Amino acid sequence: MELFNQLAQDNHEQIVVCSDRNSGLRAIIAIHSTTLGPALGGTRMWTYVSDDEALRDVLRLSKGMTYKNSIAGLNHGGGKAVIIGDSKKEKTELLFRAYGRFVDGLNGRYITAEDVGMDVRDMEYIRMETKYVTGVSPALGGSGDPSPVTAFGVYSAMKAAIHEITGNDSLKGKKIAVQGAGHVATYLCRYLAKEGAKLFVSDIFEEKAHALAKEVKAKYVKPDDIYDVDADVFAPCALGAILNDTTIPRLKCKVIAGGANNQLLDQDKHGLMLIQKNILYAPDYAVNCGGVMNVSAELSGYDQARVMKQAEGIYDILKRVFAMAKRENIPTYEASNRIAEERILRVGAIQRLYTGTSNLSGRLGELSAKGTA
Ligand code: NAD
Repeated sequence: MELFNQLAQDNHEQIVVCSDRNSGLRAIIAIHSTTLGPALGGTRMWTYVSDDEALRDVLRLSKGMTYKNSIAGLNHGGGKAVIIGDSKKEKTELLFRAYGRFVDGLNGRYITAEDVGMDVRDMEYIRMETKYVTGVSPALGGSGDPSPVTAFGVYSAMKAAIHEITGNDSLKGKKIAVQGAGHVATYLCRYLAKEGAKLFVSDIFEEKAHALAKEVKAKYVKPDDIYDVDADVFAPCALGAILNDTTIPRLKCKVIAGGANNQLLDQDKHGLMLIQKNILYAPDYAVNCGGVMNVSAELSGYDQARVMKQAEGIYDILKRVFAMAKRENIPTYEASNRIAEERILRVGAIQRLYTGTSNLSGRLGELSAKGTA
């Protein structure tokens, strides 16, 4: 498809194709929307098989960030970047510093953070060339790992979902099957164990799942058996696309609320299958938006207690999503999309109000001081 058609399809504002022969950098920065503020979203390093695949991915991911930042109530639009390359073999100081200079050239229209294939050291190289980086290590004055905040948001979302179906938000005694025993899952399980939930834990790395199960007194479940657990809640905290034709028929849960991104393989088809099974789906990007709350907070003086309070508010965000889904008789993911879109439209509309602080007014002031206006 032609480039401009591709951008017009989902209303993307801008793409920046970054190429530097000296460092070998090949990257694409996509800015989907800046209506709410500077575009915020991570940089991913991946071995894309073609430029086209990289472009499609960055367009999809940047649009997703617009929705996530909006539902989170942040003053950020959506953006994302991809660096084409093998994160195990092709990382160099030069590559990331060259990339940092391209980010800097956008002068704050895009703010980047860590994503798949990137680590703290890579972000430090980028930060040598631009201040438009967030989610950096505490050693550099950053907030570090966002997982504790993400997990607290998932926990709050789960409570909202349980309240929706039982009228009570207590998770005490509730059976919760957690897929993945990584960062988010670990913090989540700690909150859940503290509240007295009955936990089931799985991971493709058995020893990881066993260690977490031991810590939080959970039952260990083999990776593929997690879908069959007779649980109240299924919490996907590993990979995306795990809600699909094969797994959904096996589910016995009443609620799905987890930290993983892009859980539905096909939003419409699999969202509908969940409704038909009477399973309440808490839309993933609303559930896990504690992560972006955390990196965004770093930009204005990080205070973890304040961000935790913000993440607790994910409870209310989910309640609004469920209420709209019920009222309009639409799937929960669609309700979440609509709430995110409405906020962008409404905030966009107030931008027509004149504030007197635009560049134009400054220029007019200069001219009138010189007696030319
Ligand atoms: P992580 O890498 O620490 O943990 C993921 C775990 O899932 C790993 O232990 C991995 O072995 C396991 N896993 C992979 N495939 C699996 C499978 N098929 N079955 C069971 N386990 C499997 O990652 P994380 O930071 O905990 O993030 C988890 C998910 O949450 C990801 O989808 C991520 O994109 C999303 N997310 C994370 C954050 C955050 O703050 N870390 C924020 C928003 C979204």
